[in-house]
Amino acid sequence: MHLKRLEIFGFKSFADKTNLEFKNGITAIVGPNGSGKSNVSDAIKWVLGEQKIKTLRGSKMEDVIFSGTEARKPLGVAEVSLIIDNHSGSFPIEYSEISVTRRLYRSGESEYYINKSPCRLKDVLDLFADTGLGKEGYSIIGQGKIDHIVSSNSQERRLLIEEAAGIVKFKNRKLESQRKLEKTQDNLYRIGDIILELE
Ligand code: ATP
Repeated sequence: MHLKRLEIFGFKSFADKTNLEFKNGITAIVGPNGSGKSNVSDAIKWVLGEQKIKTLRGSKMEDVIFSGTEARKPLGVAEVSLIIDNHSGSFPIEYSEISVTRRLYRSGESEYYINKSPCRLKDVLDLFADTGLGKEGYSIIGQGKIDHIVSSNSQERRLLIEEAAGIVKFKNRKLESQRKLEKTQDNLYRIGDIILELE
């Protein structure tokens, strides 16, 4: 799997549309303090479906939208797209290139797209589960993450190992099926009650 490009518009300090190309090999982002380096990794986490605003270093989700400067008005929308090369077939879909887009309006409305088709957050999370880029992923190691892993309890560490072992997707599906079974059981009880009343 290879990250090809990150397209950012209106996200945090990126008021103008900015495209970052990741060539083969190592890409280093350098710049003075506060110039927006960490905002790039925040944009990657965000487009992958991050819901915890603390992880994105804000206090409410709206904080990811460009809030303006003395010279520029705030924007009403933030949009990030991540384009991934899938020639290796890391993702179980037919496309050789995958784009994932997340958009958030100041009204709070948010949209997700996979290859420009609207989808749910769940579809994005499912796509990245078990790839290492997922919610419990280990591809983005932020400041303090190593300390966190070393000092985490066995349950927290297990989540990371499960992501690496590729079983998160199956765990999620199991949970979903259990929920559906519970709902069906409830419906059966209700039908039983109705039948009793009618008899
Ligand atoms: P350091 O080297 O100190 O870690 P950095 O280069 O990683 O810094 P970031 O933390 O990525 O910098 O960026 C911080 C900058 O982003 C600050 O100038 C902050 O004002 C700006 N910023 C954050 N959120 C927004 C927003 N919603 N609108 C406009 N600017 C924002």
